[in-house]
Amino acid sequence: MTNGMTQPLLQVIDLATWIDADGTPLRAVDGLSFEIQHGETFALLGESGCGKSMTALSLMRLLPDAARVVGGEVNFNGRDLLTLPESAMREVRGNSMAMIFQEPAASLNPVLTVGAQIREVLEQHTELRGNAARARCVELLEAVGIPDATMRADEYPFQMSGGMKQRVMIASALACNPSLLVADEPTTALDVTIQAQVLDLLRKMQQERGMSILLITHDLGVVAEMAHSVAVMYAGEIVEVATRETFFSRAAHPYSRKLFEALPRGDGRGSALAVIPGVVPPLSRVFTGCRFADRCDHAAAKCHTSPPERIALSEDHIVRCHLYGHESVGSLPSGASGTIVSTGVQPPFQAHEALLAVTDLKVHFPIRKGIFRSVAGYVRAVDGVDLEIPSHRTLALVGESGCGKTTIGKGILRLLPLSGGEVWFGAENISALSHQRMRKHRKDLQIIFQDPYSSLNPRMRVTEIVEEGLRSLGVDESSGERQRRVDMLLEQVGLSSDMRYRYPHEFSGGQRQRIAIARALAVQPRLIVCDEPTSALDVSVQAQILNLLRDLQQRLGLAYLFITHNISVVEYLAHHVAVMYLGRIVETGTVDEVLKSPKHPYTQALLSAVPVIDPSKKTEVMRLQGELPSPSNPPRGCHFNPRCPKAGALCKQIY
Ligand code: SF4
Repeated sequence: MTNGMTQPLLQVIDLATWIDADGTPLRAVDGLSFEIQHGETFALLGESGCGKSMTALSLMRLLPDAARVVGGEVNFNGRDLLTLPESAMREVRGNSMAMIFQEPAASLNPVLTVGAQIREVLEQHTELRGNAARARCVELLEAVGIPDATMRADEYPFQMSGGMKQRVMIASALACNPSLLVADEPTTALDVTIQAQVLDLLRKMQQERGMSILLITHDLGVVAEMAHSVAVMYAGEIVEVATRETFFSRAAHPYSRKLFEALPRGDGRGSALAVIPGVVPPLSRVFTGCRFADRCDHAAAKCHTSPPERIALSEDHIVRCHLYGHESVGSLPSGASGTIVSTGVQPPFQAHEALLAVTDLKVHFPIRKGIFRSVAGYVRAVDGVDLEIPSHRTLALVGESGCGKTTIGKGILRLLPLSGGEVWFGAENISALSHQRMRKHRKDLQIIFQDPYSSLNPRMRVTEIVEEGLRSLGVDESSGERQRRVDMLLEQVGLSSDMRYRYPHEFSGGQRQRIAIARALAVQPRLIVCDEPTSALDVSVQAQILNLLRDLQQRLGLAYLFITHNISVVEYLAHHVAVMYLGRIVETGTVDEVLKSPKHPYTQALLSAVPVIDPSKKTEVMRLQGELPSPSNPPRGCHFNPRCPKAGALCKQIY
């Protein structure tokens, strides 16, 4: 935000970028104006498809072929970047502006060592050559926290973890000391403890170099931890700009407030999350009024006919909404951002008999080597796990990628061979059943996955997808009855029966997840393994799916094993939680016990790494060093000991 004294580093005025889609322009960025000050982190916040990344690519002039800037100015250090010849722009990109992306693997060249890639940048944009370039490259890798930097400079990207690759990207972006770093969802693909390390690193680099950061994100927690100023984007335009403090205490635009209300939180347990009805309007539309009008609870007639202007609520707070104009169309209910309106009280937790009990579960995968493919060792993905889930209850299984969460889910369903242990469903030990006898239980135990698109057959219509389960399990053989059941199931998950002849690609991400849930419900299961079912969804769509799952549990008495890395979702939805680290459960208890007073150092570190939007709830941060070791060669003793700040001699010997 401008302070009225110094010239901003970046000033974007009325930027417009269109994408050509079969002759119809999509107005991906439509009249965007904002400023970034020297040394400031400016967050561009919004859900997918709102134009955030297109804005970044427009500034860098790295747009794909189908897109073009059709108007506006991008003044950077006193020059309009949009009028520079490409050769001068290349200089700017190398020397003063740099960009990092969400997926570092896609941006690094797989056939060059990471050192060679950083040296290439140095040699293109600085005077450094040969040994001097190599020394600078090692310095940069050290600066971003890569251990054994001299040795690791000779490694290829595939030899590095996701967190390491993101550090390499940052090192490469910082090679020329840029004054502006454009970071497009830089931590979205990373686990929360690694995210905390990368965010720390960006903050440190900013302080040391006085660099500005344009942070593009959909995560309110990351914004709260990092940003000095925030701009909220919706359907190609900025609808609100404020300082972080103002935004988090007094968000004004109805869309911003809905984003807060849709966030799952512990104090909203037992209440439905706010949802934003409808979908983002197509960007091919020529808007005659407010772009949010079709979805806004406060829309008045004027909102549909006249586009709202930018209205300054204070020196550091601008909003685009008729509620705040001279002729206000109404008023918003008062209340701090993110107030959750309670619609009911969740019944207190009571002990129920276990519907599912897992004891000493092991899933080991053989590592085969040599021409005879003989077994050289095992990946101990799940190594002696005990769990219990009562009916009508949700057990959340949390932990970072690669810790074995999904393998447990698949092991319980016998979708993977078990190496040891027992799985009891009611009074029956299903781990000992033949595949033939297991079929009887398939209808009781269902699974839904993170990415509904890849788990739904793209060539089947919705009705066939839902019917498939009914047919394969011999449920309801008559076709008339099956059709009636399909319609009922679609209605149960909030889809209308006239959608039944459509294909998966005709639906949005949230609707596809509803289809996957309808398919799982088709066989009247008693337990559903939900494997990260909302992690690919925007927060407003996530709220719809969480409301649906909660509602189905209350109506149908379902039990859930809810696999997630999102602690807010656990707080909101689960009754019990089990924390997993490298194939083992390290802590388990009720949600209140584990989340409010974690005992295991890993749980403490995991929880303290989660970005929070309310600074009063921020606990002392316990940063973890290093990353999850390989389950094929786990550390001796407690698996967590090499990363544990409290580890003693005994921890390295005995588990
Ligand atoms: Fe809602 Fe009208 Fe404000 Fe748009 S201008 S956000 S429709 S109240």
